[in-house]
This record gives sequence, structure tokens and C-alpha cells, in this order.
Amino acid sequence: MNRKIILLVALSSLSFLVSCATVKDRVSESAFQAENLPVRELKILVASDGSYTREEIDVILRESSRAFEEQVGIRFVPVRYMSLHWEKRDVLSMLEKIYYSTDTQGFDMAIGFSRWTPGEFLVRNLVGSWEGCIDDTYRRYIIVKNLNKHTLLHEVAHAFIFENTHSANGLMMPMTFQVLPFVPISVQSLYLAEEDRREVLANKWREFSEIPVIASREHTLHADTQARSAM
Ligand SMILES: [Zn+2]
Repeated sequence: MNRKIILLVALSSLSFLVSCATVKDRVSESAFQAENLPVRELKILVASDGSYTREEIDVILRESSRAFEEQVGIRFVPVRYMSLHWEKRDVLSMLEKIYYSTDTQGFDMAIGFSRWTPGEFLVRNLVGSWEGCIDDTYRRYIIVKNLNKHTLLHEVAHAFIFENTHSANGLMMPMTFQVLPFVPISVQSLYLAEEDRREVLANKWREFSEIPVIASREHTLHADTQARSAM
């Protein structure tokens, strides 16, 4: 009995710590809101394979934008829509596809929207699979395989956080830890940890055509990236 109570206390204090560690409770403070000004309008290029309607994509962008703007003062503004067909569906092939299908001007970030194939969905539910990814060269090109605010915001936040890849709590917890077989993803937090928010604010006005210095690179675009960026 006692052991159960101790476990309960431990669990409730753990959940208290987790919620404390994000900015969730501070977003209504006026000092917090002042730190988010001025607002940056992030120009988004939307690339879709037809998995979703433009309206569905607009809704998820609008709702995600609201959650991001209240934390860091960054607003998503879709400026271009294009259709894209993926020949291969692994992380790097999809990232390179969107990279080579777009020119570098006129937008800050490109987001490719797709949907799991039935096979990918099965694998995802049995052993877990990636829901979204961002390139590690520019931190500018994103692919999402579902319409989920957490997935989208997690990847967008990677474009502003370079010192660490992931955090122990909040929005930037590693996705692979959270995407467990047959577990709904609604338990995920949309709120940044304090230190992650500070870094997003520090990099808020980054220039997306420049290659940032980041802690570690995994999904780097093809070697001729350097040549193209110099053009
Ligand atoms: Zn991540």
C-alpha cells in the first residue's frame, strides 16, 4: 500500500516537473509576450502530393502558427503552393526531392506534406516510424507524413535550435520516444522547454539561405549543396 502511495507521489511530482519545465504557464504573462515582439512572418512554401486538400493544410498551418506565435512570436505565412510526387519515400530521398524541386528564393521554409502508405502505417504501429523530418544542412526543408500539430511544430522548431538536437521535455522531446506502437500521440506537448524557447528567440531572425552551425548533422543534403548555395 505504502509503495503504491510513494509511486503515486513520484509520478505526480514527475508530471508537475514536466509541465513546469515548459513555457505553457507563462504565455499569458505580459513580460513573456513582450519578449516575443516583433513578430516574424515565416514565409512557407507548401509542397503536397495530393494527400490532403489545400484547406486541410491551411488549417493545420494556421493552428500550428497560433501555438508557435504565442511562444516565440513567429507566424507561419504560406506564400506558395506546389504539387510534388515522391519517387522514393526514405528520409533523405524525400528531403532531396523537395530541395531540388524548389528554387532558393521567395520563401523561408519549404514543407512537404504526405501521408503514410498502408505499409508505412503498419510499420509505424508495430515498431514506430518517423512522422516528420528536417534537413540538417540548411534546417529549412521539412517533410511531414501526417497532419499533426506536434509533428509540424517539432520540425519547425528544429529550424531555430542548433545547440541541442532534442530535450528532456516539452515540444523537443525526441519523437522516437513518444511514438510508441498503438499509442495515440495526443500526450505530446506543444510547448517548448524554457531553454529551447530562449534559443528559438536567439535564432528567430536567421537567414534561411545560409547554412547554420549546428551540433550534429544526420540528414545532410547532397554534396553539391555547397555549389548550389554559392550560386
Ligand atoms: Zn526531432
